[in-house]
Amino acid sequence: MKILIVGGGGREHALAWKCAQSDDVTEVIVAPGNAGTAMEHKVRNIDVSANDIDALIGLAEAEKVSLTIVGPEQPLVAGIRARGEERNLACFGPGGAAARLEGSKAFTKDFLQRYAIPTAEYQSFTEIDAAIAYVREQGAPIVIKADGLAAGKGVIVAASVADAERAVRDMLGQGSFGDAGRRIVIEEFLDGEEASFMVITDGKSVLPLASSQDHKARDDGDRGPNTGGMGAYSPAPVVTAEIERKILNDVIYPTLAGLREDGIHYLGFLYAGLMIAADGVPRVIEFNCRMGDPETQPILARLNSDLVALCKSTLAGTLNEASAEWDERAALGVVMAAGGYPGSYATGKTITGLSNPATQHSKVFHAGTALQGRDTVTSGGRVLCVVGLGDSVATAGDTAYAAVKDIHWDDVYYRNDIGHRAIAREGC
Ligand code: AMP
Repeated sequence: MKILIVGGGGREHALAWKCAQSDDVTEVIVAPGNAGTAMEHKVRNIDVSANDIDALIGLAEAEKVSLTIVGPEQPLVAGIRARGEERNLACFGPGGAAARLEGSKAFTKDFLQRYAIPTAEYQSFTEIDAAIAYVREQGAPIVIKADGLAAGKGVIVAASVADAERAVRDMLGQGSFGDAGRRIVIEEFLDGEEASFMVITDGKSVLPLASSQDHKARDDGDRGPNTGGMGAYSPAPVVTAEIERKILNDVIYPTLAGLREDGIHYLGFLYAGLMIAADGVPRVIEFNCRMGDPETQPILARLNSDLVALCKSTLAGTLNEASAEWDERAALGVVMAAGGYPGSYATGKTITGLSNPATQHSKVFHAGTALQGRDTVTSGGRVLCVVGLGDSVATAGDTAYAAVKDIHWDDVYYRNDIGHRAIAREGC
């Protein structure tokens, strides 16, 4: 069978690499893909944008694709699943109504409150004066969020009331996030340790994936501006068996039950971004309607089971009979980014040192890369995610960083402390 992966980042490289390992798969097409997917065995890129739903449907039909897995959120929020179904195309990912869990923070907060699912206290606003009055009443720290999709950048964690007021004025007054910021959510600052928890679900049955944790801040020590993610590792030691039970029972199952109650069918990956407080309560920071990037890279590096078989059984309604096998080792991914990211950065820089093949212990996933003649060049802010595996998060990190040191381009930037929280726990 042929598989279509929609997207062109590191997550999609990992999905394509994993799907290509399935014996049932003859070819994986990636639209649009990157230099990494172009060089992967059994994988072919086709230059169709991940946002061009008409062209993607046409491609799936023309290539007789049996299964489409959608990497990024935009085509899901825009309703690619229903469009595929109209043409009898199997699409792995939630429909547009279900994808609102990611597409609108105000929708999600109302949903969480209605079904008593733990999350930060909040209010939504469209008017500056009311929003600022609320900020002053609540005090700082406080969190200001653009309602709509903002590529992971529409959240300001304000340390002072003045910073919060500035964020409110930027979003509602200056339109700094365009339509995504015409409505904002202002919420309580949550203290604790963050974790990502992803599941595969058909709306009722749930197959948990391995836990993970990512680093959103650009600089060492979790400082600097927020990014799409500078590295991630799996498992996340903060997600003990007891915490996992709470996440499933208090967050994931009630969310799916609430969606069913609201007449919304959810099928695909569901990602819960959680803050685990000192009291062990997992509170929802956000939902994503797809896998996370870069968490997907270390998670799929640990998945021993056939991902295509898991997706097929989800679509066939037999997920309750499925299980997933995991590599016992930890995996840690270091994102190598272009200097300047998440602000402006140069592209077109030649990358050297990529020739070392993947080993049992490491794998380089591409994100913002392109082929230019014989060279692989940078074409985005997050360029590579180098994953290492090891008996602990610390040794996985040593392996990943050893591979990182072989790779160069002008202005390369990466954090040196990915996994520091887990490594500190391991040292205890
Ligand atoms: P989001 O896009 O909602 O995941 O937010 C991006 C990042 O902002 C999260 O990964 C957290 O680090 C931080 N954040 C979001 N909401 C809160 C909150 N209520 N309290 C503390 N930190 C938050």
